[in-house]
Order: sequence, then structure tokens, then C-alpha cells
Amino acid sequence: AAIPAVSVKDGDSRSDDDTSEEQISPAEKSLLQKIIRKRLVETTKDIEIQRKDPHSPLYSVKTFDALHLKPALLKGVYAMGFNAPSRIQETALPTLLADPPQNMIAQSQSGTGKTAAFVLAMLSRVDPTKDYPQVLCLSPTYELAIQTGEVAARMSRFCPEIKIKYAVRGEEISRGLKINEHIIIGTPGKVLDWGQKFKFFDLSKISVFVLDEADVMIATQGHQDQCIRIHKLLPRSCQMMFFSATYEPEVMNFAEIIVSNPLIIRLLREEESLDNIKQYYIKCKNIDEKYTAITNIYGVITIGQAIIFCHTKKTASWLAEKMTKDGHAVAILSGDLTVEQRISVLDRFRAGLEKVLITTNVLARGIDVEQVTIVVNFDLPMDQKRQADCETYLHRIGRTGRFGKSGIAINLIDSPHAMQLCNDIEKHFGKKIHYLDAEDADEIE
Ligand code: ADP
Repeated sequence: AAIPAVSVKDGDSRSDDDTSEEQISPAEKSLLQKIIRKRLVETTKDIEIQRKDPHSPLYSVKTFDALHLKPALLKGVYAMGFNAPSRIQETALPTLLADPPQNMIAQSQSGTGKTAAFVLAMLSRVDPTKDYPQVLCLSPTYELAIQTGEVAARMSRFCPEIKIKYAVRGEEISRGLKINEHIIIGTPGKVLDWGQKFKFFDLSKISVFVLDEADVMIATQGHQDQCIRIHKLLPRSCQMMFFSATYEPEVMNFAEIIVSNPLIIRLLREEESLDNIKQYYIKCKNIDEKYTAITNIYGVITIGQAIIFCHTKKTASWLAEKMTKDGHAVAILSGDLTVEQRISVLDRFRAGLEKVLITTNVLARGIDVEQVTIVVNFDLPMDQKRQADCETYLHRIGRTGRFGKSGIAINLIDSPHAMQLCNDIEKHFGKKIHYLDAEDADEIE
């Protein structure tokens, strides 16, 4: 399938107030997570299963071979480097592929293998001898739809007979024509237009319906209603698959409207902790001393990479400019960038082209770059009331479970208020934040 022209702006314009912390929409957050995470989130948790009918059999598989996929599809799965199903896939895949089809609601954090699971189910349900859409997948945004489509294209590379069509902005079809691709991946508004208004395809012939990123979907005005309207036009026999990274009552209410008699599977999130992290603070008189501290630290980063968090865009760009002038290769990630620019910044950083990434809170949550060994809080995180924001601190610094590699966190303190925040954070977690002499960055191991 051809990918429509790239979007230029993500449309989420924020206040230009330099003193305010940047916000990021759930859709952007989800996209960034997908882009930066190139492998599975590891977990020690077990799957939780709920089902209405306790007599219906439930299988779980330890290998992809055990799923009896079409050989070309199995080959595609292995070609992606997947050796064995992830924790969520072990339980989800047999149900998604079962005959007669079963409905499913699955919830697990980003990066646990949901997309790969439903894409595999979508591809294996297609009957390529029928030239009309049979599978419909809804995503909350253009970019997320493209991400899913790319997974589908890669997984089906040995199945050239399977055709995919994007129903997203920028894609146009002439009146009176019919879509003959097998799979439609799109956003709710466009799908509703194409299916209901223009009748480019017949919603009553859809046999697999996937609703992805349900929690992001309901965070977007109007999307939930559009999804429900689409759902009403689907046949009763259609298999429903519903995915979400979170499990709030709102999401579950939505799920209940869309999915009847489901198997519900959940994978609890691995808790973040500060256990493997050495925490330090450095006293600085002013912003210039903070800068000196940073360059000292930069000097000792021989392995791994660093992320520096600033409170405002203004500080972040000041720091980036100054470091660049001094000959350091740094990357900056801010809300001013378009989606494409952010993707490219993160890709370069992941590839190690820059050792330091400077950012505001845009990157604080949930995104972990494996090779980052040092996190610097140029400014300590605080809430609207200027109180210590311990949750954000944990998201910036913490690692998950026993998979977390060890790391170093450095907090730069330039005022009694900053010292207070640091003390409050130390007290909150009950984990010592050690004093580090600014001149002596070598003490960091
Ligand atoms: P989610 O949809 O839950 O965010 P994804 O399906 O996007 O998760 O998977 C996260 C990452 O892990 C992707 O880079 C994907 O290619 C990879 N992945 C998915 N399933 C497997 C697997 N069984 N083995 C190895 N890697 C996998």
C-alpha cells in the first residue's frame, strides 16, 4: 500500500508561554513511545483473564508454529525477528485466531506486543480471493494508522496477494469507485465518510473489526461517537478486537458498547523503581554554574547517553545552543517540532549520533531509551503549586523491575527552593540523594 503524503504539523498548538511546562497529547505520547521503542517491554507479571463463559476453552501458545498460520505469514513473523510470542500474545493469539471467532478486549502498556498480535490476526483472517474490504482497523490519528499499516506491510511481505488501504486524511477516492483492498486501516472520521456517506466499501461485509488505542481514541473529541456509529453498521457476526494501554472505567464502558461477550485479558504494568539508580545532587550558584556542571558531566560520559530535563522550552533551547556552540553534539526535543522532526531527533539519538538529548517534560513519561545511563534534572520537576512532582521524577529516572539496568541521576540545585524540592523527593522515596562536588564529576562511576 502506498503511504499518503507526510503530515507537516501535528496540529496540537500549545501556548507560547515560555514559563509553562509543555503538554503532550495522548496521541503524540503514544506515537513517540512506538517510535522510540523498537523492542518488547519485558515483564515478570502474569496475564489476568476474565471471561463470561468459563466453559469456553482457553489456550495459550509458547511458539508461533503452534498457531498453524499460513506458511508465508509465519515466514513474515520470523523475518521480523520475532522468535516467540510475547506474554500478551501467548494468550491473545489463540483466541484471536480461533474458530468460531471470539471477541477480545486486551489491555497492556505500550510496547508489550498488542499491535503485532492484532495485525497477525487481521492478516490471517483475510480471504485474498475476495476483492473487497474484510478487515477494518481504527486508529486515533493519521500517524498511528500509518505505524500500524507499516507493521502489517512488513508482516505480510511474503503474502503479496494481501492488499491494504489507508483511510486517512490526504487519501482521496473518486465518487462511484469501490475499494478492493482487503484491509482498511484508518481514522474514524474518514472511515465513516468512506463507508457510510460515499459507500466506497460495504461495512456490512467486514468480518474483523479492530479498535486500537482505545484510551487515546476516547481522549479525542468526537472519536468515540464515530467509532460507535461505525460499529452499528457492522454485521453481528463480525469479530471485535479492542485494545487499550490503560484500564480506566471510561475505557471499559466504551469497550462494553463495542464488544459483546469478550474474553478480557490484562497484563499489569511493571512498577518503576529507583532501586538500581544512584542519585546525586550538585550545588550550583546560578545557571552558569549549572552549565559548568553539565559540561563536567558530559566529559565523563564515555559509555551510554544522557537525557537532560529542563523546566521550560526557553532553558532547553538556551542550553542546547550553548552546548552546540561549545562543540558538543546535542539533540533537542521540544513541542515546537513537527512529528517528523521529533521522529528524526529520536531516531538519531537512538542510533547514538548524539550522546545528549535535551528536553522538557515531553519525553518524561514512559519512554525509556535503553542506552541512557545518565539522567540530569537541570531543573527539578515540580507541579503547578511549585511542590515537588515525585511522580514525574520517578518517570524520568526510574527503571522497571529487575530488567532495569543501573543508572545515574543528577539533580542540579541552584536555590533554596530547588534544595527543598530535592529533600522532599528524597523523603518521598526514602532513597538517599548523595551530595556531589561540582568540581568532582569524576566521582561518578
Ligand atoms: P504495543 O502494540 O503493545 O505497543 P507492539 O506490538 O508495537 O506493542 O510491540 C512492541 C515492540 O516489540 C515492537 O517493536 C515490535 O516489533 C516488537 N515485538 C512485538 N512482538 C514481538 C515478539 N513476539 N518478539 C519480539 N519482538 C516483538
